[in-house]
Amino acid sequence: MKLYTRCSKCREEINFSAWVSDRFALAKKLNEKIELRCTNCNTSNKYHVNDIRAEKNKIVALVASLILLAGTAGMVMLVWDYIFRIADVYATSAFVGVIGIPMAVYQAIVSGQERKVWLFNSYKY
Ligand SMILES: [Zn+2]
Repeated sequence: MKLYTRCSKCREEINFSAWVSDRFALAKKLNEKIELRCTNCNTSNKYHVNDIRAEKNKIVALVASLILLAGTAGMVMLVWDYIFRIADVYATSAFVGVIGIPMAVYQAIVSGQERKVWLFNSYKY
């Protein structure tokens, strides 16, 4: 999860990250007013936690996609030899189940992050 606010001087986005789940935890960890420096105009200013917003981390989404792609490919390779040898209904459902694992991991990561972003932005300090 990425945290950001807008610079009070040049309106450029100031990004930072903190391992917190909501604004209360952020205020507890860093203070109610957080000092942030803008990388664009180099102005340092204090921002209230309510002015901080959360956004989905693109790297997390990318990693989740890679797990989905590599995981699915890996699972297909793993079960490919067996699927034709024991071609019955149980093998097919097991095949579908195994293929579904990377998809489940992907969905867990993506929806987990969406939930975190939603939670952070929902509650004001
Ligand atoms: Zn600025």
